[in-house]
Amino acid sequence: MKMTLTAKLKLQTGPEQFQALRKTQLAYRDALNAVSQYAFAHGKISNQRTLQRQMYDEIRLLYQLPAQMACNVPRQVGATYKTLWTKVKQNAKMRKQGRTKKRYKGLDTAPKYVSPTLTYNYQRDYSLKSDQHPHSLIGLENLTDIREHSKRTRGKHASKKQRRANQHASRWAFAELHSILAYKAASAGSLTVKVDAHFTSQACPTCGYTSKANRPAQGLLFVCQSCHYMLHADLVGARNIALRTLLIRQAWMSTGQLSVAPDVSDGEAKAARLQKYAELRWSPDTSPLSFDMG
Ligand SMILES: [Zn+2]
Repeated sequence: MKMTLTAKLKLQTGPEQFQALRKTQLAYRDALNAVSQYAFAHGKISNQRTLQRQMYDEIRLLYQLPAQMACNVPRQVGATYKTLWTKVKQNAKMRKQGRTKKRYKGLDTAPKYVSPTLTYNYQRDYSLKSDQHPHSLIGLENLTDIREHSKRTRGKHASKKQRRANQHASRWAFAELHSILAYKAASAGSLTVKVDAHFTSQACPTCGYTSKANRPAQGLLFVCQSCHYMLHADLVGARNIALRTLLIRQAWMSTGQLSVAPDVSDGEAKAARLQKYAELRWSPDTSPLSFDMG
């Protein structure tokens, strides 16, 4: 699995080196603004290749930028225009539907780059290779197609629009949390996997009985209607996720193949997976650490 880690390095420079870097920064910014002006004057071009073709020589000659940096300029400007175009189109749609009267003005003038920041390419990108198995495997609920409750207006009082907004917001929050965890885990030599979230709050971790009725009045207490196991519903969810994570680990150890996210689109595979989950058992004297990996 390939993962990009971002490292922030402070350059220790002497006064002359600092001046030289500063000069490059300003030249880079000027080049961005020149390309932005060009793009604007030619129909607000967002195509990075077109910008590259039309402006590369000028960037190299006029702003004295090295090749790799000269390539970054049209790329960055193109990306800026692309974002702005998306906003213009979204705004046009909203106005057509009568949802807003405001006209988006982001592309009325050529975007101007003020801050003199640039990406230095020092010789090459560095890649760190590790063939080792991760220290620990962290299971996260795959909530892609499951709506999670949030503390916003919901239930019967929420409007259709509000519900849609809630769904959107909670998905974003989870996606963000997942990506942060995945990143942090990787830098600590661990790995995150997404596990199927279906019925994690309804399945009994000790006997496998799965039913909505296991959550009386949809409350915070889990009461298994079959074996009468009782526990806070969040802990039940966590145990089910831990069990499913161990299942993934087991499959990984025996097949050498790791599935980082379940395929939710395949109905048959899903049914088989749920059947497997129903066979998982959490016993009070079995902690995940001593779980037999087989
Ligand atoms: Zn039970």
